[in-house]
Amino acid sequence: MTQLDDRPTTMPQPTTFSAPTDGETVRRHDKDHVFHAWGLAGADTMSVARTEGSWLWDTEGRRYLDFTSQLVNANLGHQHPRMVAAIQEQAARMATLGPAYSVDVRSEAARLIAERTPGDLDMVFFTTGGTEANENAIRMARVHTGRHKVLAAYRSYHGGTAGSMAATGEPRRWATEPGMPGVVHFWGPYPYRSAFHAESAEQECERALQHLRDVLMVEGPASIAAILLETVVGTNGILVPPDGYLQGVRDLCDEHGIVMISDEVMAGFGRCGEWFAVDHWGVVPDLLVFAKGVNSGYVPLGGVAISPAIADTFRTRPFTGGLTYSGHPLACASAIASIGIYEDEGIVEHARALGTDVIGPGLRALMERHPSVGEVRGLGVFWALELVRDRTTREPLVPYNATGEANAPMAAFTSACKERGLLPFVHFNTTHVVPPLTTTADEVREGLAILDEALEVADRST
Ligand code: PLP
Repeated sequence: MTQLDDRPTTMPQPTTFSAPTDGETVRRHDKDHVFHAWGLAGADTMSVARTEGSWLWDTEGRRYLDFTSQLVNANLGHQHPRMVAAIQEQAARMATLGPAYSVDVRSEAARLIAERTPGDLDMVFFTTGGTEANENAIRMARVHTGRHKVLAAYRSYHGGTAGSMAATGEPRRWATEPGMPGVVHFWGPYPYRSAFHAESAEQECERALQHLRDVLMVEGPASIAAILLETVVGTNGILVPPDGYLQGVRDLCDEHGIVMISDEVMAGFGRCGEWFAVDHWGVVPDLLVFAKGVNSGYVPLGGVAISPAIADTFRTRPFTGGLTYSGHPLACASAIASIGIYEDEGIVEHARALGTDVIGPGLRALMERHPSVGEVRGLGVFWALELVRDRTTREPLVPYNATGEANAPMAAFTSACKERGLLPFVHFNTTHVVPPLTTTADEVREGLAILDEALEVADRST
């Protein structure tokens, strides 16, 4: 059922520089010279000729529905004309300017972001992505409190550099250990695989908070600078916190003068059907970390929205952190365009409706048909199917740290999706359903129909 398309499958030749565009040369140069992230160096990658909306075309003419939004960043889909035009226009106006100057697009992007972040998070520090934003949020919390420890969840991903990788709880942390001193991990709520043997969401919330309080006490609250949490855990399985959990964390932070850092790199900017995921629970963190959806990754951008109390700390002493490309004009112009599109096209409302009316019911229907689906969870356009060998025992289809042969059933599932024209976002035993927020209901249904067929491959391992 490979999708073919009659439109051109090579990129237009660039006119101001030269780069071969035929698939074979691109793939060969890629294999020989591009050291890819996450172990893909030297691997056979798909060479992409064209992208548009929720679709990619490879250089052989096959069409794929992007159920990944790439790395859950392309919230507005590919090649949105307003995004492209804004970047082109800003490149002609002013392509680069260092962070020490004020420039119209940077001030306006900061103002628009501050207007949308919850509560009084009115100042914005710009970075070039989520990793650096977490690094800098941790630094702000440490200087602000004069403490050094950071508490973060085991099932988390916070980024790829030393500090944010140390804060990351999942197995990708192992290769960089011992990492940054002072990070302590704890178990966050995860009712399907409760670390606390809870039997309901309420019990999970209560016990997870008691566990966090216990960790805090044994580590010494006076040494803890921050609790860093993904509001809704993303890559590690779309774990939506039970009602009351985030407020409980907020209360613990207030009680002990700890900075609450919400990592909304993946969950923010409409992904969860609100501007920010914390808005679902009315909780205002002290630092809110964003990236990805802020401008759909058209130009690298991330940042930290900062509370007045923390911003005040750095009025009397310098913030010893900075980046050459902090608030890059092209990135800021694209953020302004992006926020305009969110407003004009009702993107947040569309994301909410897609989740409630199409993705949620569609995935629950898949669960009824496929024994390999252990749980469906999510909100907005941020969903996961957790795949299991056995629904009763909940044994995962592949282990949480699966590589090589151990990962074979998920690799087979991934191939089955790709052969049918769907790009899935797979991490260990979950497959995420995270298309661009601009995806139509019909496109989502098309993707769900492919998942339906591909899950038969996973069912064979049950
Ligand atoms: N935090 C979260 C929750 C993420 O999902 C990611 C990336 O996937 C990051 C931080 C790191 O962001 P980046 O890859 O933009 O550096």
